[in-house]
Amino acid sequence: MCSQKKHPKTFCPMPGINAGMLTLEDLERITDIVARYDIPMVKVTGAQRLFFHGIEPEKIEQLKSELQLLDGQPHSRNRVHYAQACPGKNWCKYGLKETENMSRAIMGLELAGPLPYKVKVGISACRICCCESWVRDIGLVAEKAGWRLIFGGNAAGKPRIGDLVADGLSDDEALQLIEKTLNYYLITAKYKTRSALFMERIGIDELKKNVL
Ligand code: SF4
Repeated sequence: MCSQKKHPKTFCPMPGINAGMLTLEDLERITDIVARYDIPMVKVTGAQRLFFHGIEPEKIEQLKSELQLLDGQPHSRNRVHYAQACPGKNWCKYGLKETENMSRAIMGLELAGPLPYKVKVGISACRICCCESWVRDIGLVAEKAGWRLIFGGNAAGKPRIGDLVADGLSDDEALQLIEKTLNYYLITAKYKTRSALFMERIGIDELKKNVL
């Protein structure tokens, strides 16, 4: 939620959408809410979230309770910030892996403590890499042999291509290794250190020594 400088009395709730996928029922619920709350603009963000612009502050809590797009999970620093996912093998002819369940599972990971900084996840079901997995804190890219897991990428002010942690992973192996990697990051990195800076400091060999 944030206030808008041009309209200080209006706010922008940002409920998530699992893997960027919306059903007819979701879309009907959203359009009904937009009409009833008289919301002037909805933005689909690069992180596959919705930004509701121009809503009156006193209506925010009620609107959030009606949306329920994020499986009812409140935001927590013990979980990843968001996961972007491509349509995966159910919807794209190039897809080698299913992505919706993987996205939901990663979003639901309850870590051993609060993360040092926000962690963004990109899940791509083939090498074309539509979700820019190499420049996310956690990246997954599907290959015939299994998932490749990448850690420490960043697309912001100082871009960094992440490091390959492991490949040939099954869904369960990928999920377990993500959890282990993030738990190592949260107990080792200083507060407010993004994964890219952390990896520049410690190097991939040190990470592998501790998580593989
Ligand atoms: S990453 Fe591959 S599987 Fe996913 S949407 Fe792009 S082309 Fe399709």
